[in-house]
Amino acid sequence: MRERRSKHRCSQGTSPFQGSQDPPVTHIVLFSGGLSSFESARRVIERYGRFSVRLWFFDTLIEDEDLYRFLDDSEVALGVKIERFAEGRNPWQVFRDERYIGNTRTDLCSKILKRRFLKRLLAERYSDRSSVRLHFGLDRSEKSRIAALRPRWEEAGYKVSFPLTWKPLLNNNELRAVPAQFGVEIPRLYRFGFVHNNCGGACVKAGIKQWSLLLRCFPERYLWHENNELALRSHLRKDVTILRDRRNGGTRPLTLRELRVRLQGSGPVPHNACAVLSCHNVAALDGMYGV
Ligand code: SF4
Repeated sequence: MRERRSKHRCSQGTSPFQGSQDPPVTHIVLFSGGLSSFESARRVIERYGRFSVRLWFFDTLIEDEDLYRFLDDSEVALGVKIERFAEGRNPWQVFRDERYIGNTRTDLCSKILKRRFLKRLLAERYSDRSSVRLHFGLDRSEKSRIAALRPRWEEAGYKVSFPLTWKPLLNNNELRAVPAQFGVEIPRLYRFGFVHNNCGGACVKAGIKQWSLLLRCFPERYLWHENNELALRSHLRKDVTILRDRRNGGTRPLTLRELRVRLQGSGPVPHNACAVLSCHNVAALDGMYGV
């Protein structure tokens, strides 16, 4: 465990169930490793007390190294251990097994490595579904996602909440400032300009802009994904890709290799170009646990 260095410990709220092993409701925060999940966890702990709160993290095995530092620091600052789970495969292994490459329309990786795994864990650990409240890191700007997600979990018998919709509402800059108040440095991907801290910045739901940023900041990581895509295309014998090229009014598959060659055009993309970009819309892709 890292040395405790937070300026403030998270308020633990009032918990009438301290000392009891079975609080009436267990509050589970889906802790993705991003800024939204930090603030969601902080709010839930403040409201319900840390003894009834669980923080669950689902590892896709392609996370940025600094995410684990953020988890370590966050659990010290928040005073609640972050339980870490891994299905055992990374997204590319899922795509190969399912014979389908994830993309902006179909997040098979999230469905299998996070949502389906979450359901399984819940079923194993909580026979009484009404004793569980799930907390998701979506904010008010994501009303359609909330509207789609809430009824599905409620129909399955679970209570759901969205702590970032509780007052006070925070803008992105305010959200970004919260971890520092607890002595926790924000995940480095935000500093590099990424909009979330999932899958090492290589999300199949992100578009060309973010993959271009990945190439600038982590060229080796980009190449690893590029090679995985090429290998799976060859294995499937299909013209399928993560990205689509929508130039000239049409749409066609765009491989990561083609994008890299296009971006490098007159030479390699500068390795340190990422450092000058600023963070924006940090909550947009955080918390991908819709059913
Ligand atoms: S962050 Fe993106 S790539 Fe990673 S599991 Fe979620 S949808 Fe898939």
